Amino acid sequence: MGSRKKVHAFVRVRPTDDFAHEMIKYGDDNKTIDIHLKKDTRRGVVNNQQTDWSFKLDRVLHDASQDLVYETVAKDVVSQALNGFNGTIMCYGQTGAGKTYTMTGATENYKHRGILPRALQQVFKMIEERPTHAITVRVSYLEIYNESLFDLLSTMPYVGPSVTPMTIVENPQGVFIKGLSVHLTSQEEDAFSLLFEGETNRIIASHTMNKNSSRSHCIFTIYVEARSRTLSDEKYVTSKINLVDLAGSERLGKSRSEGRVLKEATYINKSLSFLEQAIIALGDQKRDHIPFRQCKLTHALKDSLGGNCNMVLVTNIYGEAAQLEETLSSLRFASRMKLVTTEPAINEKYDAERMVKNLEKELALLKQELAIHDSLANRTLVNYDPMDEIQIAEINSQVRRYLEGTLEEIDIINLRQIQEVFNQFRVVLSQQEQEVESTLRRKYTLIDKNDYAAISAVQKAGLVDADGHLVGEPDGQGFGLGVAPFSTKPGKKSKSKKMFKEQLRPSTPPAKPVAFEDFKNERGSEINRIFKENKSILNERRKRASETTQRINAIKREIDMTKEALNLQKSLREKQGEYEKKGLTIIDEEEFLLVLKLRDLKKQYRMEHQDLRDLRAEVQYCQHLVDQCRHRLLTEFDIWYNESFFVPEDLQMTLKPGGSIRPGMMPLSKIVSLGEDDQDRFGQLQQTTLPGGPDSVSFYNAKVKMEQKHNHLKTMMGLQQAHRK
Ligand code: ADP
Ligand code: MG
Repeated sequence: MGSRKKVHAFVRVRPTDDFAHEMIKYGDDNKTIDIHLKKDTRRGVVNNQQTDWSFKLDRVLHDASQDLVYETVAKDVVSQALNGFNGTIMCYGQTGAGKTYTMTGATENYKHRGILPRALQQVFKMIEERPTHAITVRVSYLEIYNESLFDLLSTMPYVGPSVTPMTIVENPQGVFIKGLSVHLTSQEEDAFSLLFEGETNRIIASHTMNKNSSRSHCIFTIYVEARSRTLSDEKYVTSKINLVDLAGSERLGKSRSEGRVLKEATYINKSLSFLEQAIIALGDQKRDHIPFRQCKLTHALKDSLGGNCNMVLVTNIYGEAAQLEETLSSLRFASRMKLVTTEPAINEKYDAERMVKNLEKELALLKQELAIHDSLANRTLVNYDPMDEIQIAEINSQVRRYLEGTLEEIDIINLRQIQEVFNQFRVVLSQQEQEVESTLRRKYTLIDKNDYAAISAVQKAGLVDADGHLVGEPDGQGFGLGVAPFSTKPGKKSKSKKMFKEQLRPSTPPAKPVAFEDFKNERGSEINRIFKENKSILNERRKRASETTQRINAIKREIDMTKEALNLQKSLREKQGEYEKKGLTIIDEEEFLLVLKLRDLKKQYRMEHQDLRDLRAEVQYCQHLVDQCRHRLLTEFDIWYNESFFVPEDLQMTLKPGGSIRPGMMPLSKIVSLGEDDQDRFGQLQQTTLPGGPDSVSFYNAKVKMEQKHNHLKTMMGLQQAHRK
């Protein structure tokens, strides 16, 4: 394999009674053939013309039996085919020189059968001799006439794709004729039937289609596929043997060319001149382009001429004086063919199914080997199988813990586990990327940087300036600058709200009033709820206080009226002369009732006053809580607003994959509020605004108590004064 090999060129001389002995001489080596042309045999021949030629070939076969011809020409080629080498045997020569006789032979006489039936016989004989191999044989029979392709076996039953018209197709495996029927033959007899069928069709076609059969090329192909019967061998070989009976090589103008004997005339069959060109190119080592596609014949034989196949040429000559011109050109053709070298190579293919089986076997063996190594190295229970879901989940958890810092290192177990660890790193990383992104998306409405239409729409809406900054925003006091919160105008602005929500980027934060509404609905919702609750309690207390005040005033008026009435009674009594009994003043019933009424009124007055005092304290306290809540709401909103829309660039960078902050180490909210200002603010917030913050509560409690006491004293003094009156 791989060594270069010359094409074998043989000459077969057709027996004739009129053999030109003086003109054609055979060398003793059975390889040489000399042609001598007598000058005086031709009229008008120029004197200095060449008259002698000598051709050396691989063998000159004269008076050779079909048997010997086969042995000499074909036997090796056929036996090599069963080893995977392609082979080509071609018969070339003028019409009547014996090409068909050599190739097919006399089909009516077994002894005179040609190369073709003998080749089929040899193939089946060799198959019998090789029980170790499963060998299949297929045949096809193609005729090329006038650049048209004919399937000589189209009349035979055939299961396979039939494509009309037939086309020559090239693929990496070689050249094949699409649409040509290829018949499986399991025994010699079948093969012969096909051959005879083809021969018959060839003759019938030449009559019915008015073909000149000497001008057609016939290619009988035997396809061999050999597989070892032992399971272990996944390799199999394929080959094909092309047996080619070429058209007659006779030239134009022969009958009129007496004065130009030595000048080469043109082939009648044009494709033979293309064949010759291809042969010349193949014989020229410097040529790298071979014109195979100039005609159907050379195209169909592209992978059978030269290349990697065993190639044999039989040149049939007709040894009569009248045919000397054709004999000369045939021998020239044979000499050219001898220059062609080929590099026969086995067509090896791989059986995928067998290969898988063999690899599985090897895998099992290697696993056993590995187990032995593990036990020798005291490594137990190492599993080399693919991981299941639970194992993968465990590795995922290891990777997460490793990233969080809670796992120091991940132990290496085997290659598969290492690969899975890397795999899970990728999984975790992409999840974290998504988390960061969705966190950002929750906070920011994103606009595609390249979406100029969206950006300019936002600019037009006056929400951002040309630089993408929010209108009225730089000092952070965006309230009340004419941009109403969208949430308060759901109907009219719903369109722009949508745009705003979906397309604003972090660099273009929403106006504060808008953001504040969002904040109150989202992160600030709890504190906002408390704020509102406190405010409603405050309002309710205020209302009650004012009602109580009104009642107190009413009582006060009645007290005054009652006092007046009592004073009137008193002065009346004094005018009428008082009754005194043992130091006690005697008063009438009317005056007594007024005294009782006054006493009740004062009691009522005191009670109401007490209520009012309590209410006022509560109002005060609630007012304080409301103020606190409002303060906290605003402070937290500021923090949230800054966090959400003014995250410093460098901080954003550190959050990105590959940034200095390891994902999973810290909650995002912590990272975002790491700025010094924010920390200070947070401290202040804790001190001043947390409800129940110890200092503030006791302070206010004390203040309220003090005021309550003060009010109480004042009221009591007032009452005492009133009482004294
Ligand atoms: P070709 O195919 O080259 O046109 P054929 O093979 O048809 O020529 O041969 C022409 C005739 O010569 C046929 O009748 C054939 O039987 C006969 N013939 C050719 N070669 C031999 C041979 N070597 N021995 C006997 N007869 C031959
Ligand atoms: Mg013929």
